[in-house]
Amino acid sequence: MSEPCAFLPVSRADMDRRGWTQLDVLLVTGDGYFDHPSHGVAVIGRVLEAAGYRVGILSRPSWKDPADWMRMGRPALFVGIAAGAVDSTLNNYTADLARRRTDSFAPANDPHGRPDFATLVYAGAAKAAFPGVPVVLGGIEASTRRFAYYDYIKKDLRRSILVDSRADILVFGPGEAQTLDIAARLRNQEPLDDIPGTAVRRRTDPPANYTVLPSFADLRADRSQLLAQTALLEAGLGPFRESGFWQAYDEGNVICHPPAPADADAFDRTHELPFTRRSHPSAGPVPALETVRWSVIATRGCPGGCSFCAISCHQGRRVVSRSRASILREIATIAADPDFRGTITDVGGPTGNAWGLSIDNKNICRRCRRPSCLHPDICRNLDTDHGLLLQLLAEGVRIPGVRHLFIASGIRHDLALRSPEFIDRLAAGHTGGHLKVAPEHVDIKTLEIMRKPRIEVLEEFERKFQAASRKAKKEQYLLPYFIAGFPGCTKAAADKLGSWLQRRHQTVDQVQNFIPLPGTMAAALYACGKKSDGEKIFIPGTKERRRQKTLVTGTHRTGRPQKERRT
Ligand code: SF4
Ligand code: SF4
Repeated sequence: MSEPCAFLPVSRADMDRRGWTQLDVLLVTGDGYFDHPSHGVAVIGRVLEAAGYRVGILSRPSWKDPADWMRMGRPALFVGIAAGAVDSTLNNYTADLARRRTDSFAPANDPHGRPDFATLVYAGAAKAAFPGVPVVLGGIEASTRRFAYYDYIKKDLRRSILVDSRADILVFGPGEAQTLDIAARLRNQEPLDDIPGTAVRRRTDPPANYTVLPSFADLRADRSQLLAQTALLEAGLGPFRESGFWQAYDEGNVICHPPAPADADAFDRTHELPFTRRSHPSAGPVPALETVRWSVIATRGCPGGCSFCAISCHQGRRVVSRSRASILREIATIAADPDFRGTITDVGGPTGNAWGLSIDNKNICRRCRRPSCLHPDICRNLDTDHGLLLQLLAEGVRIPGVRHLFIASGIRHDLALRSPEFIDRLAAGHTGGHLKVAPEHVDIKTLEIMRKPRIEVLEEFERKFQAASRKAKKEQYLLPYFIAGFPGCTKAAADKLGSWLQRRHQTVDQVQNFIPLPGTMAAALYACGKKSDGEKIFIPGTKERRRQKTLVTGTHRTGRPQKERRT
């Protein structure tokens, strides 16, 4: 086990050990502190540390006790706030708004240490503890709430989290470049006005070329304008769009600059920092670490643009791939760890088979307003060659100490069908026996709203995967994910899914009862009950949502207990 000083400081004693009297940056998170390149607060901490800043981590502080916030004293530059790796609504509540009994991102699964609306609560506590110290918001919760959004707990529209928190600046998307820029500017006492990948609140006019969104007053007067807002933002998430947006509030304009430029070299450098891949010893093991400990992040961004997905709102649709050399070096570092047992559990990202995808003509993307690069068909401007990925997998598994190298991130089966060789090699050696796929539904109208491929595409993939598994003399299965209670999913549509599963004698453990996540089109549809053309859509109520879930899990047939997935 690594010594505590291998981690960033979490206490005054840790600071003393490094000879520090004051931190430059205090990073606050609702998660337990584990030092892994998949964990946002650990990544930002390591990146700042590598740039010479003195960084401390305040994990799961008591938001009612100012003394807890003073553990490491007042930071010189700023307090960085993240709710955690997952939106706190998802972490704390089920789709039926029952309190969850576990929190896998907390030590010992403790479900009690993270406040609701964690970003807002922590920002308020930071302002009270450290008056005058700038507060910087980051992470997926802040990122997806950078403009007005529908809140599932309050069942109402809310203002941008930047307005409600009175934070100084909000970082969206992967945040390394922005955070370094913010730290440097605060050190040099320069304004935080024009940093790509950030949003600020100002009384001044926004740049003339920024797209105006409906004001909060307009949204309040006519909720259906949330559909128009979300469509504008989705178009802006496309590769190479580089769009800026602004939204008016009584408290000033929320001005959101274009995304930070994708920088694959910086992505490499970040993931090769000296992460311990362990939970901090002071808090005890964090269960979420165990599923990712020996995994490697290869990509950011996803071209899918699924209407319910917070990841694409956060990271955008441009796939940024790390270099092959950097990924292989990280695998070699893992293989040298004395606790490693020979299996790289995942080389992936938001989508398991997106590494190496490229765009043929960037200028076409700059003009494109499609919300998905894969739906209703795979765009011809997207190069779907899986050859580079196959080469990477082959080289990774040859590294001494590596016996298996798996892809455990969800596969885009429509993309995989473009490469029969990929399906063969996946089945022969790169899956642990259960391959995650996410058809999400079978009903064509529901799939249209979700922006997912027709179920026949999954069936074709399954035939090919099973044939490849037989050829490899392996008994392997697909692990399909479905969503119940989706906007537009009528009783008849849900029955189709139930019948499809029954015909296959299949029950599914991994089912998500729909939760409208801020910033997504699915949340806008849920909040408005209609599409942007005015067509009404069916919104399943609580009883129907539960019925739909039992159809998927088969509990109406088997009586088996249900599990719920959090995405
Ligand atoms: S394929 Fe997965 S990661 Fe990509 S947009 Fe869809 S749900 Fe999100
Ligand atoms: S042109 Fe194609 S690849 Fe580019 S943004 Fe549009 S749909 Fe995506």
